[in-house]
Amino acid sequence: MMLAGYCVGADTGVLYIRAEYPEAVDIVKKAVAEIEAKGWIGANIKGSGWNYRFKVIKAAGAYVCGEETALLNSIEGKRGEVRTRPPYPAQQGLFNRPTVVNNVETLACVPWVVKHGGAAFTKLGTEKSNGSKLVCLDSGFKRPGLYEVECGTPLARVIDELGQGFARPTKALHIGGPLGGIVPLDKMNALGIDFESFQKSGFLLGHASVLSIPADFPMMKYLEHLFEFTSLESCGKCFPCRIGSTRGKEMIHGALEGGRKIDRALFNDLIETMEIGSLCALGGGLPLGVRNALQYFRTELDPHFA
Ligand code: SF4
Repeated sequence: MMLAGYCVGADTGVLYIRAEYPEAVDIVKKAVAEIEAKGWIGANIKGSGWNYRFKVIKAAGAYVCGEETALLNSIEGKRGEVRTRPPYPAQQGLFNRPTVVNNVETLACVPWVVKHGGAAFTKLGTEKSNGSKLVCLDSGFKRPGLYEVECGTPLARVIDELGQGFARPTKALHIGGPLGGIVPLDKMNALGIDFESFQKSGFLLGHASVLSIPADFPMMKYLEHLFEFTSLESCGKCFPCRIGSTRGKEMIHGALEGGRKIDRALFNDLIETMEIGSLCALGGGLPLGVRNALQYFRTELDPHFA
């Protein structure tokens, strides 16, 4: 982060860490104190004429605050609501100043790139997905955890070797977070930990978390959960996400609890409107997983649709 700050001439780095992860906040604060004690932050660092300081923010617990502009609003003490772009953060970001927003995983690559050079970095991984990727396996794997693999590593290898296989009968993987794609197990062999193979197959690598969906968990219930999650986490700024997620949840709930059939054309309209009309990836990203489920779990879902 300091290297990035030095390159763009910034004098402040803000670390925005969710308050729900107090251990991470403590670890980062300790690391900042350690480099400060060694004279690597502060005024005129090691006589270079460059000033740099860190600010550690315990973030409010909202999923949407991972979206770069909602994150900036939250740091400014405003409601965590997505901003309309342009202007982009690099033009007008935190307190209207040009701002670089990156996630930790990206910034963590910078020292390696500086040390070994960009050419060496691009040799790792695939043509378009360079370097490595963190992959997170949930408790449905025999060996859950967070792993770092070279981009392009076959997904099946990650699951069989690192995760040691499934801990319970599993029918699908939800990869890339709640807004990622739902991958049926028979599509797994076409995927590697890289953005291209996922895009080609109609899924999304996203942040590469891998959640296993148990074989006996009804897919309809899973979709209800996704709509509910989006409706709870929606910042409310745009209609397609704010209203669409709630209507979707109601439709599925009505089918599950009230035995009502869902009008397929209306449902398709709803997810299309969310996909095209949402201002950010929360409302815009939900339809991908829903479409994957509709495509690959027809026998389970079709009886609920008219
Ligand atoms: S898509 Fe949802 S979270 Fe994103 S701006 Fe619209 S209402 Fe807010």
